Amino acid sequence: MTLTSRIIFAMITGISLGIILNVLEAYSLMNSVIDTLLNKWLVGNLLDAIGKIFVASLKMMVVPLVFVSLVLGASALGKNSRMGIMAGKAIVLYLLTTCIAISIAIFLANLVDPGVGMDQSTDTEFTGKEAPPIKDVVTEMVPTNPVLAMSEGNMLQIIVFSILMGIALSKIGKKGEKAQRLLESLNALIMKMVFILMQLAPFGVFALLTKLFSELGISAIMDLGAYFITVLLALLIHGIIVYGIIITVIGRLSPINFFRNVRPAVIFAFSTASSNATIPISMEVAEKRQGVSKSISSFVIPLGATINMDGTAIMQGVATVFIAQAYGIDIGLTGYLTVILTATLASIGTAGVPGVGLIMLSMVLQQVGLPVEGIALILGVDRLLDMVRTSINVTGDSMVSTIVAKSENLVDREIFNNRQE
Ligand code: ASP
Repeated sequence: MTLTSRIIFAMITGISLGIILNVLEAYSLMNSVIDTLLNKWLVGNLLDAIGKIFVASLKMMVVPLVFVSLVLGASALGKNSRMGIMAGKAIVLYLLTTCIAISIAIFLANLVDPGVGMDQSTDTEFTGKEAPPIKDVVTEMVPTNPVLAMSEGNMLQIIVFSILMGIALSKIGKKGEKAQRLLESLNALIMKMVFILMQLAPFGVFALLTKLFSELGISAIMDLGAYFITVLLALLIHGIIVYGIIITVIGRLSPINFFRNVRPAVIFAFSTASSNATIPISMEVAEKRQGVSKSISSFVIPLGATINMDGTAIMQGVATVFIAQAYGIDIGLTGYLTVILTATLASIGTAGVPGVGLIMLSMVLQQVGLPVEGIALILGVDRLLDMVRTSINVTGDSMVSTIVAKSENLVDREIFNNRQE
């Protein structure tokens, strides 16, 4: 079996085993000894530990990988004058697709009316965390101390520092040769580390998914069925139809090949619910499967994992309509336009880690005067939706890197079109 098929196999068995355990538990079909053995020891200890080690090992690679490949990528781009134009294209595409995503979500939610008739439960309590003001997000993009930025994993700061370093490297000619060679060698080293960790991925994916699905609150999903299905539907429409159209019409590439190529990144995003932890795989997918030149993928992918969250924006769009309906508040057209703007801007400064979409939602709700406690209504189903929306987030990053590269003639069609496993 190839690595991808092993990972897919692990994913399917993990989900199935998780659901079986969940059902056995829900209907109390296990005696207490087996229950302790399976749920406490197997899932709660062993699988939990394997899953945590796996996610930690992915995260461990993110900062060194992004730093080294971004300096190299920016230095390759710095040699031609199109660097700024390419960055501009990526940012415009990221923001534009996010606006489309929320619009689809709001439109669909108004069709389905998932919150109509919900009791607006004033007794629920949830204190939303403070979301950072946009001004701070922008001004804090420049690190005062790059080492601190790296130790904290502050992606935007790392990106700014690395791009500047890469551009400078491309401008110092012969004097930069040693630094360039060192970085190239480090890059090969880090890629090898990622490759080694990837061999363990089937175990990690199996452990994460078994645990998640065995603990999923199935009754919460049933109760919030309309909300859950509306978010899923909007995610699918955006991820398959909108991205498919962009790849076909603007990229003039085969959407089938695109979706086939992006599969490994989607599986990792689904299992970890973190675009950040998926960066190493997204980079690999962009270069080795979509055929995107490293000079593009090295900055478009980490940038996307940090600022581009179409899936998250979709959840926020549907959630806003849902909460407004549940509380019987009409926010009107201006309200919806504010939601589109706020959610798009909010997605810029928020790192791709699990559950962060909900924190950003409290900011959006406050902006249009909806009760932040409304978040408590959807908490129960958020984890599963987080996994799906993160998959859309990383598919969006892959799509934008492919489109930007294609527009610059930097997609290797041979790689893009050839079926690799
Ligand atoms: N988990 C998402 C991501 O990492 C963010 C979110 O929607 O919570 O992309």
